[in-house]
Amino acid sequence: MFQESSAAAPEITDLEPRHDESRRQFINHAGRGLLAVGVAGALPLAAAKAAAPDAALPPATGPLDIKLPPLEADTDPKGADPFNPDAPERRVGYALVGLGHLTLNEILPAFGQCKHAKAVALVSGDPEKMRKVAQQYGIKPSSCYSYQTYDQLKDNPEVEVIYIVLPNSMHHEFTLRGAKAGKHILCEKPMANTAKECEEMIAACKKAGKKLMIAYRIQYEPLNRAAMKLVRDKTYGATKLLQMVNCQNQAHDQQWRHKKALAGGGALPDIGLYCLNTTRFLLGEEPTEVSAQIYSTPSDARFKEVEENVTFTLRFPSGVISQCTTGYGTFNSKAYTVHAETGSIKMDPAFPYHGLRQERVHAPNGKQLKETPNDPMKNQFALEMDHMAECVRQNKTPYTPGEEGLQDQRIMEAIYQSARENKPVKLPAVAKLDAFRGEAPTDEEA
Ligand code: NAD
Repeated sequence: MFQESSAAAPEITDLEPRHDESRRQFINHAGRGLLAVGVAGALPLAAAKAAAPDAALPPATGPLDIKLPPLEADTDPKGADPFNPDAPERRVGYALVGLGHLTLNEILPAFGQCKHAKAVALVSGDPEKMRKVAQQYGIKPSSCYSYQTYDQLKDNPEVEVIYIVLPNSMHHEFTLRGAKAGKHILCEKPMANTAKECEEMIAACKKAGKKLMIAYRIQYEPLNRAAMKLVRDKTYGATKLLQMVNCQNQAHDQQWRHKKALAGGGALPDIGLYCLNTTRFLLGEEPTEVSAQIYSTPSDARFKEVEENVTFTLRFPSGVISQCTTGYGTFNSKAYTVHAETGSIKMDPAFPYHGLRQERVHAPNGKQLKETPNDPMKNQFALEMDHMAECVRQNKTPYTPGEEGLQDQRIMEAIYQSARENKPVKLPAVAKLDAFRGEAPTDEEA
């Protein structure tokens, strides 16, 4: 939990270049402040440079041309490749919109583990909080905006991507305004409150010639990606059944998440979405039918406007059935199991930010074998922000574009309809695999 008083930000004085300060002095000045906080992603750069075409930028990440003597014999196991970030001038500048739990506790710290992305601007309704955060991360005061002055981002060439981390109902407006300001958009999940809003967000970004990515971090996380490859390669034969659960017990003073107008719904769009999106990601297929049930404890004030518990079953063209459970009033449980013909893959936990575990169980010679691959412990937010940065630099479609968010929204609307009408709801058949995804992250990005 972020505590404003605990930020203990080192005292960094104004990082704005003064008119009488040369560019060199400015970079030295900013660099000292940055060393003090140890965040690689916040180096300022000259505005003109940020606006320069790709060819003018320093080279992208590659092996460092520096040889150090070996520390261990060749016969010892090799560690992971060294972290090899782009030069600050090459990294893609992000504006963070909304300084709540996710931005302060996860996203801003994650820039320290990014190779291609850096934080250069903030947008908040609370100037005092923003001042403290800007100091901590070396963001220039002139790159701090309110929700009213947000549109002025168009005049800030350091900002190439806007990352929207606001309550769900605000994603639509801030995507439309961001695209109009000429910026690429990375938008938190759920994409919006309705499919119509999602369609308008996609259209706005298309019209502006800008990229739109939805922040489905699980699709970039190495252990979940490994599970996806095992499923798609049929390593344990055909997958038949999936069981997914994402439950947590909501604090009673949660604000917008319990208001329908702001959140769009309760457990389903917030955490049940992980069950839905991860099922679709593992299989690559799209469901053709959904059936669902909803129950909310009548006396619980948290669930006056939004639902507490949802179970839903997704049926896929290959015959796979995914049984999904999500709830806002039970002890934390975030896991899934893939049941295939000759083995199973269990991720428990599957959806938190850290500490994921995978167990593969099969019996290759009639003897049960359990394999638990090491968690590469990559920061999921750094991976997704770097992927978006690479899409911007290389003009690629993000792996999880707006269309991916729209498809989830359509299915969630069918889930609500099924629960309301107490009968299965058919969904349009989609023949193609990965029909709504863009280009997969490269090995280097993953
Ligand atoms: P939060 O409540 O901690 O922060 C929301 C921010 O929006 C706050 O700074 C708040 O001041 C601001 N805000 C502006 N207008 C507001 C209004 N009218 N009402 C309430 N707040 C307002 O929320 P969060 O947990 O940071 O979630 C933000 C978004 O990120 C949501 O869309 C959520 O679904 C998503 N999220 C994603 C993940 C993930 O793992 N990808 C995790 C948590 C949250």
